[in-house]
Amino acid sequence: MANQLEFEQTKSLYDDKPSFVSHLECSITGESDYSAGQIHGLSRAGRPLLVRYDLDKIKNSVSRDEMESRPGGFWKYREFLPVGSGENIISLGEVMTPLIPLKHSVPKGCDVIVKDEGRLPTGSFKARGLALAAAMSKELGQKHLAIPTNGNAGAALAAYATYAGLKSTSFCPDDTPVVNIREIQLQGADVFTVNGLVSDCIKIVKDGNQQVGWTDYTTLKEPYRIEGKKTMGLELAEQFGWQMPDVIFYPTGGGTGFIGMWKAFDELEKIGWIGSKRPKMVAVQASNCAPIVKAYDDGVEHATFWENAYTEAWGIRVPAAIGDFLILRAVRQSGGFAIAVDEEDIFKCRNHIAQKDGLLLCPEGAATFAAWQMALKSGQVSKSDKVLLFNTATGLKYPMPETNQFLDKNKPIDYNQFK
Ligand SMILES: *Cc1c(COP(=O)(O)O)cnc(C)c1O
Repeated sequence: MANQLEFEQTKSLYDDKPSFVSHLECSITGESDYSAGQIHGLSRAGRPLLVRYDLDKIKNSVSRDEMESRPGGFWKYREFLPVGSGENIISLGEVMTPLIPLKHSVPKGCDVIVKDEGRLPTGSFKARGLALAAAMSKELGQKHLAIPTNGNAGAALAAYATYAGLKSTSFCPDDTPVVNIREIQLQGADVFTVNGLVSDCIKIVKDGNQQVGWTDYTTLKEPYRIEGKKTMGLELAEQFGWQMPDVIFYPTGGGTGFIGMWKAFDELEKIGWIGSKRPKMVAVQASNCAPIVKAYDDGVEHATFWENAYTEAWGIRVPAAIGDFLILRAVRQSGGFAIAVDEEDIFKCRNHIAQKDGLLLCPEGAATFAAWQMALKSGQVSKSDKVLLFNTATGLKYPMPETNQFLDKNKPIDYNQFK
């Protein structure tokens, strides 16, 4: 029952005070007349809303040491989260995800660490964002949540919505891996496959808003997923002793995590828990779906829709991101860069790391390794840099190479072959 006790302890953090949210703010115009405690989608300018906190109040309410001493996963960052009442937090056993230094899969002298988000409920970091969003829906009285998804987001939403007693409906491109589609269904959601891309699924959800009255859970169209993903930045800062790694490689689709981490670092600096040093933030995409990389290379603030997007790193098959300018800003302000990797390299790296270090990454995670290798070669990062790679889901959800060794039990066995 240790986990249950731990969770009760975490829950009690929420019980005696309201949230520290002061208001919400339009990410493009900066307009700040969006009240806390009310239902919001996009801003009037059609862009994501960012949650703002009373940072002075946070500073006076909790110390870094106290935060660090709390057990458990991301719910412990209570002061930095928008949920008001402990009754609304939904926990399926979150953990602080481990940091694993690569050992045999990198050249000697390289300091490359994987943050393994595959250890979270439903096997991906989508759990962070959707747990927060679903908790806020519970708090605000939204009962039916609809999401366009390449798989992992729908699965995370299904699990957390079901546990919270909320209805969820997922729309996936029909070539989404079967394991994801079935997982969504089995975890209590309604799931539909659609003969199109995630952009087509987005349109279906949008067009249904009026008639069905569901809440549109498209990436960044509700304000709270970023807050959940922000906890990656809080966790990292804590795990690195309130210092930062030199470079972070992040597999970028809609960019929620990218934007969220950048926001976390900003909030932490403002209350004086970290200094002004930032990791270089590197947005990693697949060569056949690289709108952010193209916009970065072109030196522009917004990306254009990527036609015929395809990659089997499904989580980053996102042809257009509504928060493109926020991703690009973080990349540029951090002195980082955006980089595209070939499909073949993604799977080569996945296999290489698994075989050398026993660590099975998802293709999106493997893409960050491929990007690091390229950047090392081109001199964009150096061998002495402390590098953090995000493995955003468990490798077990994805197809693996076939095996081909058979043993006939009815024939004499040549034991020499096993030596
Ligand atoms: C969704 C997803 C991503 C992309 O995450 P964003 O924060 O939306 O850019 C990366 N990897 C996996 C496994 C995903 O499911």
